[in-house]
Amino acid sequence: MTLRKKRFWFTMITSVVMIVLFSIITIQSFNYFSQNTIREQARMTAEMLRVSLTEQMRTGVISERETLFKRLRTIPGLVDVRVMRGEPVIHQYGVGTEGEQTKLDMEKRVMATGQWEEAFVQEKDHTIYRITIPYIATSTGTPNCLQCHNVPEGSINGVVTLGFSLDSMQRTELFAIAPLILLLLVFGVCLGYFLKKLFQPMVTTAEQLKTVVENAETGDFSGRITATSTDEIGEISTHTNMLMEALEQSIGKISSRIQSLGEHGRREGDKNNLLAHTVRIVDEMVGATRFKLAVENDLDLDEIYGRLRLVLQQHFGLKNFSYYQVDNNGKHLKPVFVEGLLQESELWCDPEILINPEVCRCKRVAACVSSVDNPLICNRFCGNAKGLGEMVHMCIPMMLSGHVGGILQIVLSEDEVDQYTDIEQTAQLYLNQAAPVIEARQLMQSLKNTAMRDPMTGLYNRRFIEDYIENLTAGILRQKTNLGILMCDVDFFKQVNDIHGHDVGDQVIKGLAEILKKAVRTSDLAIRFGGEEFLVLLPDTDSEGCMILAERIRLALKENVFQTPQGPLKKTLSIGISVFPKDGNGFWECVKYSDIALYHAKEHGRDQSVLFVEEMRKDKEQY
Ligand code: GH3
Ligand code: MG
Ligand code: MG
Repeated sequence: MTLRKKRFWFTMITSVVMIVLFSIITIQSFNYFSQNTIREQARMTAEMLRVSLTEQMRTGVISERETLFKRLRTIPGLVDVRVMRGEPVIHQYGVGTEGEQTKLDMEKRVMATGQWEEAFVQEKDHTIYRITIPYIATSTGTPNCLQCHNVPEGSINGVVTLGFSLDSMQRTELFAIAPLILLLLVFGVCLGYFLKKLFQPMVTTAEQLKTVVENAETGDFSGRITATSTDEIGEISTHTNMLMEALEQSIGKISSRIQSLGEHGRREGDKNNLLAHTVRIVDEMVGATRFKLAVENDLDLDEIYGRLRLVLQQHFGLKNFSYYQVDNNGKHLKPVFVEGLLQESELWCDPEILINPEVCRCKRVAACVSSVDNPLICNRFCGNAKGLGEMVHMCIPMMLSGHVGGILQIVLSEDEVDQYTDIEQTAQLYLNQAAPVIEARQLMQSLKNTAMRDPMTGLYNRRFIEDYIENLTAGILRQKTNLGILMCDVDFFKQVNDIHGHDVGDQVIKGLAEILKKAVRTSDLAIRFGGEEFLVLLPDTDSEGCMILAERIRLALKENVFQTPQGPLKKTLSIGISVFPKDGNGFWECVKYSDIALYHAKEHGRDQSVLFVEEMRKDKEQY
């Protein structure tokens, strides 16, 4: 109930209660007073009647008594006058007229007991007060009863019944109460007016405060309260206004600035609540910033992508999504992760996008492509054919230096769309945060690749081994395992250059590089050590394993036929093998021993793999 209504009802109820109470009290008082008055009147009338009858008896005109009664009945208000004879009088003077005999029960009782009685009776439309008073024989006064009546003192000579109409009294009562009620009504109106005046500032302030706070809840802090008094209510207005001013200056501006960024759509529930919307965006921004900080400390791209995947799964609660990395200057798309599909190699899109990225609409237009409002926007999306019901997609590009460096694809069922109304904007925020880090990591990786790889063969170069070997050997020593070192050198390579020319020489080098790539495991490393010399490092491999692999490589080259302008060409390979740390304490020392073993192979007829043994070192030193 509003304050206004409370004030109204308070005034109304107070006034009504007062009017009712005053009326009851007034009526009761009036009745009490009227009854006493009328009772006194009755006694006086009865006494006067007794005196008059005695006088008539004394003067011998008692037979005229009916005339006396008639005259009495003409007195306004006195409607009934009857005198009835008691037993002693009847005995002495006879029954008398019919009117002088008791009729009413009340009269008979008074005649019997000598106790007066009264009653209010309703006759037709009139209320009548009736009183019956006994005439008791007494010897006091002159003349007295006993002088005429032959009765003992105290006997009941008769009774008189008097009836008074209360009509005029009731009218008087009404006229007495009416001004009082009128007065109370005026009092009620005055009370209402006074309360209104008293509570007006309170009510107005409370109403304005309600509106201002309601608006503030929706993020609108522009509301103010008009101060209508200088008391505590006025102070509430002033302090509320100051609070609103402060909120408008701070939160209001933050909200409108975030709003003006235009990056974020509002959720359905937030539509009218700028504050909730702002809090949510700030939350997202904090989340995205945290994500960026974490990503900055990630070692490589794999770790960054792993973190992005985790955020999509755990923070956003998404089930279906994929991320593609744009490779080779935009010539390929490489799926980094695909979630929500049963088959490992399956995609949410036509696989053609991998080899021909231009068919991917998102890659082509470098902008978000969403099928939420336009289901047919991209015909390469295959989500609806996966038997999971109607699906929508949102493909969001990750822009790296003005080009699309990656594509995040979010796939939602129709039910999920309402739940993720602004996932597009939020995911974009996260991608934007990760983009500079990803770009820096990609650049570093490609720089490293350029500096550490041999451009002709694509194998690592000597520089790589110089940078990398410390970590590798530390791991080997820690795990107490072996690192096999194969030093490979093409036999009589100079002849190839001399006879077939440098291009064929290059062809042989590239051919051997391909043989090495195929022969080694992913944990192994093939390095172009210089010219036509290749170093192969085999972690966790003993002498025997090294020899097996060396022979496989040697035979692979031996059987390989190079097609040259001068006809087919075959080459052989010599391989020296040492094992770190079995053969020497340092890596480079072991490299030297594999070189000694290679020398040994060359010295002993070439086209062979030779394991380093201690004697070879001594032999070498002799030379
Ligand atoms: P050996 O059996 O003793 O190893 O005889 P060899 O002729 O192979 O002798 P060596 O290993 O010393 O020869 C290396 C030659 O490889 C010298 C150089 O001209 C040639 N060479 C080095 N790098 C390249 C290259 O990138 N391309 C070509 N075509 N030749 C190269
Ligand atoms: Mg050589
Ligand atoms: Mg050689």
